[in-house]
Amino acid sequence: MSQVPKESAPLEGYAAPSTVEEALRLIADGDATILAGGTDLMLQTKPGGRLPYRRKLVNIRRISELRGVSEKDGRMSIGALTTITDIDNNDLLNTVTPVLPQTANCFASSQIRNAGTVGGNICNASPAGDMIVPLLVLDAEVELSAWTNGAVTTRLVSLDKFFTGPGRTIKQPNELLTRIVFARPDKKLFAGYIKSGPRPALEISTVSAALSAIRDNGKLSRVRIALGAVGPTVLRAVKAEAYLEGKTVTAQVAAEAARLAAEDASPIDDVRATAWYRRHLIQVYIKRLLENDSQG
Ligand SMILES: Cc1cc2nc3c(=O)[nH]c(=O)nc-3n(C[C@H](O)[C@H](O)[C@H](O)COP(=O)(O)OP(=O)(O)OC[C@H]3O[C@@H](n4cnc5c(N)ncnc54)[C@H](O)[C@@H]3O)c2cc1C
Repeated sequence: MSQVPKESAPLEGYAAPSTVEEALRLIADGDATILAGGTDLMLQTKPGGRLPYRRKLVNIRRISELRGVSEKDGRMSIGALTTITDIDNNDLLNTVTPVLPQTANCFASSQIRNAGTVGGNICNASPAGDMIVPLLVLDAEVELSAWTNGAVTTRLVSLDKFFTGPGRTIKQPNELLTRIVFARPDKKLFAGYIKSGPRPALEISTVSAALSAIRDNGKLSRVRIALGAVGPTVLRAVKAEAYLEGKTVTAQVAAEAARLAAEDASPIDDVRATAWYRRHLIQVYIKRLLENDSQG
């Protein structure tokens, strides 16, 4: 194991379970590093990386029950090991909620999309995690599973409450994110996603934005706006959402919503962009998301 950073304790074991129960038993002591596609983990755990391995490495990639998209009783379910390519190509999602394939299509390169999973994207908890942004506007919840008192237990947590900071979540070390669920969107719901960058599919977002709302007789309701890479976590633009409720989109309304969304964000200056430019992009994207819909 030459890849183990100096400060890590030596890995004592590696396992590649093929069922959820087996995986949960293996991580029950909270001393395992979980490996899905490895596209984040490999960089973080390499020598000089920020994450030391825990005692065991548990590769969950062979758990086929965690891969795929389904619908039951009006609830959509996406397995944690569903890859970004799977999402991009999924017929059910393309019909029911095209914003998810649209986002997957702006994600990294084909190689990364083939390996990277939606569960890994969420658990990595990057403020720039692309799939998190549209899932937030769909009111998604994550299912966390654990092996407790000799049985598999699960809890559902709103994605909105899952992140506590960059790279940090409420998930306990003995828990596996097993699936993402959300209500099948209303037929009148529209949703869109925009990501910055001259080559959006190969860039880590400088700013990303998703917006969803129901439009009935021209009036918006159930408005959700999520912004990526403009705060410590992907965040909801709650002031802009509240402002848009019950409104008909006009150029003036879109401009005010965009201004409020920029206020909702807390961007920083970094190597990719200044805070000023990020606030500017938020405003451009919110107007575009609203105006594109107003043509629909
Ligand atoms: C070149 C490159 C380009 C990239 N471009 C983008 C991009 O455009 N947009 C973007 O958002 N990201 C991008 N990424 C980041 C990365 O590819 C994604 O975040 C990806 O979805 C991570 O998934 P994974 O399966 O590879 O996760 P892993 O690397 O296997 O895991 C990531 C973290 O989540 C934990 N984990 C994974 N699955 C679970 C689970 N089911 N339950 C509990 N914990 C779990 C792991 O222990 C680890 O801490 C890029 C990465 C690279 C290397």
